[in-house]
Amino acid sequence: PRRHGSDSAELQEKTLVLVKPDAVQRRLVGDVIKRFERRGFKLVGMKLLQANHGILDKHYHQLRQKPFYPSLLAYMTSGPLVAMVWEGYNVVRSTRAMVGDTNSAEAKPGTIRGDFSMHVSRNVVHASDSVEMAHKEIGFWFHSDELVAWECSDRDYTYGP
Ligand code: GDP
Ligand code: MG
Repeated sequence: PRRHGSDSAELQEKTLVLVKPDAVQRRLVGDVIKRFERRGFKLVGMKLLQANHGILDKHYHQLRQKPFYPSLLAYMTSGPLVAMVWEGYNVVRSTRAMVGDTNSAEAKPGTIRGDFSMHVSRNVVHASDSVEMAHKEIGFWFHSDELVAWECSDRDYTYGP
């Protein structure tokens, strides 16, 4: 029997990843994408856009009272970012582990932040921190018709039969 049916919900877990403006400026978009592709996750949505305060106030709702919030807004609106939705087994937790510590100065080598960044204020990527938040955040950044459901041809070689 298959451990995962093609309709299996656990293979369709999704998360939001933002390649932040510093990473776009530093031409790191491809490096970030490559990490998630190589791991085995499936790209189901992607766009380059200029964020505004409206969407960031929703996305960073819990941080609006923080002293660094104005500088976070300035950073996140300083240039275009790339918004992506990645799908796969345990993608929320795995992606957070691959991204590394919020504070780039403490992030471990081998993580995206640990390999590509130096400081908490310029930490290259965002990844949702729970399945529930991922669902909300994907809704802030994408219309449902911007997500593409498709089958990876190597599925059985990625997950087993
Ligand atoms: P994340 O989930 O790992 O991105 O971390 P948080 O949700 O705690 O914070 C969201 C984002 O706010 C971080 O990724 C940073 O871009 C920014 N941030 C968090 N803490 C600080 C801080 O102390 N100073 C500055 N300048 N930015 C911060
Ligand atoms: Mg967060």
